[in-house]
Amino acid sequence: MLPVVALVGRPNVGKSTLFNRLTNTRDALVADYPGLTRDRKYGQAKYDGLQFIVVDTGGITGDEEGIDAAMAEQSLLAVEEADVVLFLVDARAGLTPADQGIANYLRKQQKTVYVVANKVDGIDGDSESAEFFSLGLGEIHQIAAAHGRGVSQLLELSLSKIEDNFPDMRATENTRNDDEEDAEAQLARLQSLPIKLAIVGKPNVGKSTLTNRILGEERVVVYDMPGTTRDSIFIPMERDGREYVLIDTAGVRKRKKVSDAVEKFSIVKTLQAIEEANVVLLTIDAREGIADQDLSLLGFVLNAGRSLVIAVNKWDGLDKDVKEDIKRELDRRLGFVDFARLHFISALHGTGVGHLFESVQEAYASATKRINTSLLTKIMEMAQEDHQPPLVRGRRVKMKYAHAGGYNPPVIVIHGNQVDDLPDSYKRYMMNYYRKSLETMGTPIRIEFREGA
Ligand code: GDP
Ligand code: GDP
Repeated sequence: MLPVVALVGRPNVGKSTLFNRLTNTRDALVADYPGLTRDRKYGQAKYDGLQFIVVDTGGITGDEEGIDAAMAEQSLLAVEEADVVLFLVDARAGLTPADQGIANYLRKQQKTVYVVANKVDGIDGDSESAEFFSLGLGEIHQIAAAHGRGVSQLLELSLSKIEDNFPDMRATENTRNDDEEDAEAQLARLQSLPIKLAIVGKPNVGKSTLTNRILGEERVVVYDMPGTTRDSIFIPMERDGREYVLIDTAGVRKRKKVSDAVEKFSIVKTLQAIEEANVVLLTIDAREGIADQDLSLLGFVLNAGRSLVIAVNKWDGLDKDVKEDIKRELDRRLGFVDFARLHFISALHGTGVGHLFESVQEAYASATKRINTSLLTKIMEMAQEDHQPPLVRGRRVKMKYAHAGGYNPPVIVIHGNQVDDLPDSYKRYMMNYYRKSLETMGTPIRIEFREGA
């Protein structure tokens, strides 16, 4: 599990600037609720060795009424799901009534709030931010989001306080599986555990229907686990002699005393489930085509390195022409996840659901198939022979040997001279070469290049 950091504040204080600094904007996921269009954004943050989920709650003025109040309420729901709340104010503009309004709301929440005075570049930060003490939320932390000043210190300070609850937050792939022994130990661990399968997708694509369909066919033991509403429920099950843990993001198995105030669909819950899973079953609604949210979710799955199976649901009762149109659109837009199998199913009628599990098993097998040094080096040599690496500054890039650096996803570490300078096109070529040679299906592959022997 990764901690969730929420950015709160009135418009123009610098939330987007900070959000962009902390994440790769490309991966921002926008919450879109019918009728409520305030732009709440979610991203995966990796900053100075810290990993977390960051939420830009969108602008709140603190004095909304009517529909605006309802929208602000939606934005502030993100606060409920957060482990750390960063309340941004503008050190240049000074204290405003809107800041006061937001502070009043935050003070009522049972959350640790950090007041962050942004834009302290080129001004006297201490004297300009002093007035924010009157918000009554404690110390003022000075940053300049645009330049990154103070950001590491702020994150270190706020996140280290909750570190005990989130042991994964400092792990980075590069240090986790640095050598073959680590990879081997990881593989043994993966093979001894049930497959964690997360069923994710936008609201209304049919996740609950699919989950019920899957569970209906199985002998199921359901645990009613304590936890907050943002946590998914884990459902152990067995299928074809394999053990699974289904991660239910759809809220099929309702926990007792879940507050109705929190929406059924939670992006944080979805992102946590993707992190937690070995294999992600992404469900898409055939009738709606590919939506931005589907693409963002796929981006998260890719970034997390998870195995992936895509279920195109509601395939029942569609005309032949319509089906062909949908298939063409999927082909066109899902090229970037062409390693994943696509299934056309009807969760409602149960059509095609059984075959999903064949692909889930195949994807997991690919993600956890032992790959040894001599095989990886052999494939590397063949690739290098078929297509020489380019010259960089007059010298030929030389790949020397490869070994496994991890599993789920498979990580291949290639050592050599000037490999850091390989162009992206050549790196892609290597990845595709490995994919074909290793015959992986359903999992992304990562290649890390290391300078020297
Ligand atoms: P949001 O509405 O809270 O998301 O605010 P934005 O991130 O869009 O920023 C509002 C304006 O403040 C933009 O023009 C930013 O360039 C500017 N800004 C953001 N951070 C800083 C900073 O650290 N220093 C200065 N001088 N300007 C900043
Ligand atoms: P969730 O929000 O993703 O959990 O979606 P639900 O499982 O609640 O389904 C949303 C709506 O789509 C419900 O009205 C379902 O009956 C309907 N639905 C789900 N699966 C199918 C399907 O395979 N075919 C059709 N026609 N409707 C479906």
